[in-house]
Amino acid sequence: MKYPIYMDYNATTPLDKEVLVAMLPYLTEHFGNAASRFHVFGWKAEEAISIARQQVADLLGASEKEIIFTSGATESVNLAIKGVYEALNRKGNHIITVETEHKAVLDTCQHLEKLGAEITLVPVDSEGNIDLVLLENSIRPTTILISVMAANNEIGVTYPLKTIAQIAHRHQVLFHSDATQAVGKLPIDVIADGVDLLSLSAHKFYGPKGVGALYIRKKLSIVAQQDGGKHERGLRSGTLNVAGIVGLGKACEICRQNIPEEIIRIQNLRNLLEKGILEAIPGTKINGAIAQRLPNTTNICFGKIDGEKLLMSINQIAVSNGSACNSASTEPSYVLKALGLDDDSAYGSIRFSLGRMTKGEDIEVAVEHIIKVVSQMKSVSG
Ligand SMILES: *Cc1c(COP(=O)(O)O)cnc(C)c1O
Repeated sequence: MKYPIYMDYNATTPLDKEVLVAMLPYLTEHFGNAASRFHVFGWKAEEAISIARQQVADLLGASEKEIIFTSGATESVNLAIKGVYEALNRKGNHIITVETEHKAVLDTCQHLEKLGAEITLVPVDSEGNIDLVLLENSIRPTTILISVMAANNEIGVTYPLKTIAQIAHRHQVLFHSDATQAVGKLPIDVIADGVDLLSLSAHKFYGPKGVGALYIRKKLSIVAQQDGGKHERGLRSGTLNVAGIVGLGKACEICRQNIPEEIIRIQNLRNLLEKGILEAIPGTKINGAIAQRLPNTTNICFGKIDGEKLLMSINQIAVSNGSACNSASTEPSYVLKALGLDDDSAYGSIRFSLGRMTKGEDIEVAVEHIIKVVSQMKSVSG
């Protein structure tokens, strides 16, 4: 067995081999610019882009005209929120989101606040759920957008997109979802759910890093946040990352085929991991346990233990204490704090996120290793 065993799929995933194979020709012989209209190099690239656009649309239940390629979810979220704000600023300046959103959403909202936006951060309960009545009551005549993630990256809690979209639309408010953690793990249907804008990132589901997409519902117009050659219908200028986009498309196609089986397989492994740790180590609990969760994610609180030391001592598995996107800070997770955990409990929590390469024996090794590390730490401190 090769150590450490990767259990940090919510931070990023390895590139699927089939995805790499699909991408390679577009890094070599088919190197054309998809915007070159007068020769076969351009046409080849454009043809590949158009197939990928359809593959992304198919995974979301969207039409290919509704897909804009970006450099990843961070850019998609920025384009969605800032683009709506700029388009509707005369109608209103109020945006509603949730305190446990990814920094891509929270920091974008904070930026707009400096430009005159009013932001409401809806709180979550101890399971990470939002109170939908409170959400609806936060809507004002000036509200233009509600942004709620499909699934939380740290605790895996999922949110009822369809109900939230209905609430938003009852008040003529647009609904954006940062679905970066749900795409590729759970079925998504933008039409059935009634989502107006949706962000995703290829590297969270076995595609390459640095490429993503924004779904924008037909007839909805937002303002571009990057100017230039008017690529992507003027919404995102810049020469397309052809190989990356081909990889994104292929990754979508693979997920569309295997989501139903993977949900069951991964959920079984995740449950075994939880059971193994919770039964063996007293005082452990799952953060966000009762809530609807992603099948691959568990965030376990080990009680009042030195979290930093715990993470340093775990060397057979690659895990994290939450968000890799927030790795610059040594603050306890704001997501766990929002659930009501105190600093020590937040520091003493670990996120395990499983994925396509996780096997049953990985779980056995992980459980045994965690039990050993924790009992060693306790015997030293006790
Ligand atoms: C990873 C992630 C992002 C950011 O994706 P990038 O690829 O880094 O742009 C945004 N939101 C959520 C929920 C994520 O998990």
